[in-house]
Amino acid sequence: MATLMAGAMSVVLYSAHLNFPKEIQGLRDWAQALLLMVVGVVIFAVHGNSNILLLCSNVFIVWGLGLMVIGTERFYQLRPSWRLFHSVWILTILGLGYWMWIKPSFTTRVAVASLLVFILHARGLFVIWKNGDNHSSTWFFGSLIFVESIMVMMRGILALASSTDVNLMGTGVFASLYLAISHLMTLLMTVGFMTVCTRRLQITLERRSTMDPLTQVLNRRGFADIYAKEHALMRRESTFMTMLNIDIDYFKRINDAHGHAVGDCVLVDVAQMIGKALRVSDHVARFGGEEFVVLLPSTELDRALHIAERIQAALRAPRVGVPPYTVSIGVACQASAEESLDGILVRADKALYSAKERGRDRIEVAPDTVTQMRVRA
Ligand code: GH3
Ligand code: MG
Ligand code: MG
Repeated sequence: MATLMAGAMSVVLYSAHLNFPKEIQGLRDWAQALLLMVVGVVIFAVHGNSNILLLCSNVFIVWGLGLMVIGTERFYQLRPSWRLFHSVWILTILGLGYWMWIKPSFTTRVAVASLLVFILHARGLFVIWKNGDNHSSTWFFGSLIFVESIMVMMRGILALASSTDVNLMGTGVFASLYLAISHLMTLLMTVGFMTVCTRRLQITLERRSTMDPLTQVLNRRGFADIYAKEHALMRRESTFMTMLNIDIDYFKRINDAHGHAVGDCVLVDVAQMIGKALRVSDHVARFGGEEFVVLLPSTELDRALHIAERIQAALRAPRVGVPPYTVSIGVACQASAEESLDGILVRADKALYSAKERGRDRIEVAPDTVTQMRVRA
């Protein structure tokens, strides 16, 4: 039954691999891993007294477990450790073969197989420990692999101690219990992996809906969410915040002269350079076309002007790969929590318009900003 379910899970994982965003890697490896393990279990069930089939069954299972590790590594954007994968299955053949035919010893065979499987689980656990975020899904996934690795280790130790019947071909309580639990654990580990994948899916979709795909800064929607949070903070702490409206000068000419692709590079460049000139607490968004908006929380006009000048200076400096260009910046400071996002955006936009009218490559302050500041003072 558990084997059938593992086969079904493999289909689920494969279809997730086909449909999930490409940021979520490793699903295909886990799908293949389950299939290999199903094959391994089926061969084990029919192997009778054939040592060759028993060896094949073990190799399939070890391939499956190895692919699970590869999938987990890919999921966490690590390079797959194929060397470990290949070492483990080759050692499985050599070890099991040696203690089957050359120096037959059932207990040593079990101990060696358990050690090799334990090494794979330990690698998986290490990857999760080092790369997983502190979220319940990671803990769930990690705990399952931890429990499974302990079980495998226990079987190896029990085999060496020879105090219990660890022969899975037997009909003893240990054999039935171990087989049932280990099949269940394989399924549970897969569920654990699916849980971290689903969490990654949620983060990816959230990110996609709030980020601009070209420049990787916030889009309008993401900016509105951030503004709402900062606005609430501003109301609580009675501080100022300032908005910069930044627009590339004569951007159309850049597109016309160098092509749309270079225009795109310029957009990415602006976003990066603005980001570098800001503090970690500041936020930048692309509001469509070649217009960027920066929110500077707890920042008064003088400081905001200083940051705007820093952005302009950084963009004026010659850089490889992008044609020279300048930006105009409109600045509006929000001193009253009664003003809405639309209100401050309109003021920053007016300031930008006047910077354009007065010749571009300059910074202008929205007139109402000064009035608002006086009211506050
Ligand atoms: P101004 O100094 O008055 O701002 O002039 P401008 O040429 O920068 O502004 P205008 O509004 O006339 O032109 C904006 C151009 O931006 C037109 C449009 O083709 C281009 N554009 C909008 N979105 C993108 C984009 O995603 N990539 C590229 N390469 N160009 C874009
Ligand atoms: Mg422009
Ligand atoms: Mg524009």
